[in-house]
Amino acid sequence: MIVFDLLCASGHRFEGWFGSAADFMSQKKRKLLSCPTCGVAKVERVPSATRANLGAEPPKAPTNPAQQPAKTPDMQGKDPFAIAQMLYSRMLDDLLTKSEDVGKAFPTEARKIFYKESPQRSIRGQATQEEHEELIDEGIPVARLPVPPKESLN
Ligand SMILES: [Zn+2]
Repeated sequence: MIVFDLLCASGHRFEGWFGSAADFMSQKKRKLLSCPTCGVAKVERVPSATRANLGAEPPKAPTNPAQQPAKTPDMQGKDPFAIAQMLYSRMLDDLLTKSEDVGKAFPTEARKIFYKESPQRSIRGQATQEEHEELIDEGIPVARLPVPPKESLN
């Protein structure tokens, strides 16, 4: 018996047990495979997650997108976690390159923009935990990014 990691067209991941790779292909061809979550018969084999190598990482940690073969030009058949990670890092890049760095003036600027005292734009910068909470309390939409400012790395 061999175990294959399978992914349905709706992105549900599950395991399938087969007598052999040929057995898998034959079942797939005859549309005998279906997703246990949504029942869809469109199921693809995906590379097994390298769980053993993740060490201290949580079990659902995204796998390295570089390890995923590019089966088709779009992302069909790829690990949904890898896709999510790619989209997320792209969004983060966008945010970091298109926003204005106002540094420690962030809480003041965020407030001014919110109350329309400063021109509407995307800004980024640093705020203390207290300043961050004050902004949230005032209903100002700010988000913490999991990118620590360089000076706090040491
Ligand atoms: Zn499904």
